[in-house]
Amino acid sequence: MKIVMLGAPGAGKGTQAKKIAAKYGVPHISTGDILRSNVKEETPLGLKAKAYMDGGELVPDSLVLDLVIDRLAKDDAKTGYVLDGFPRTIPQAEALTEGLSKTGDKIEFAIDVNVPDENIVERMSGRRYCAKCGATPHVKYAPTKVEGVCDVCGGELTIRDDDKPETVLKRLKVYHDQTQPLIDFYEKQGVMHTVDGTKDIEEVFSDISNILEK
Ligand code: AMP
Repeated sequence: MKIVMLGAPGAGKGTQAKKIAAKYGVPHISTGDILRSNVKEETPLGLKAKAYMDGGELVPDSLVLDLVIDRLAKDDAKTGYVLDGFPRTIPQAEALTEGLSKTGDKIEFAIDVNVPDENIVERMSGRRYCAKCGATPHVKYAPTKVEGVCDVCGGELTIRDDDKPETVLKRLKVYHDQTQPLIDFYEKQGVMHTVDGTKDIEEVFSDISNILEK
């Protein structure tokens, strides 16, 4: 099961990707998470990526492609995966298609978690982040038992720099300019599906499960 998640930042595609990974037993591969851990550990990749990420810009394709190629080559990704946050540009999607075609593979499902811009800004302001385990609870839609404390690992919750309102607007513009064209790209491959991301988390997941199990 090879799946690509599309959708604006804050649409909930990360949450859905984690649920897909748990239910169908495929790894959840988030380029955002991999980049953030590189930033935290101050690796050469992290040092190059940080300024783009903090400014709400995309990290250059050349940096992201290498990390995805390495990750997809690991054993656990042999039979499938759910890609979250990749591809984000047409050149990335083309590189992925080309890389997969070498082994006769292709993406089987592209799922757009669709949420209008006006809802996104409101949602992002309530999103929290656990730097220890990567959990992303929400003060209104997915509250933790104790405010400010991660339910998963007990870590302290913060607001990601790129979830701040001015950066969110920038990220939305970047999404419309560079990532939304992928919907057309995957339509043409006959694998595009859209779900209504304004529904609650379990309803969205049930819609996605129906698509994957058809
Ligand atoms: P995310 O957690 O997916 O929202 O990603 C956070 C940030 O990481 C983005 O705003 C980009 O700066 C960077 N990033 C993540 N995935 C990619 C990608 N596929 N291409 C370029 N930049 C990316």
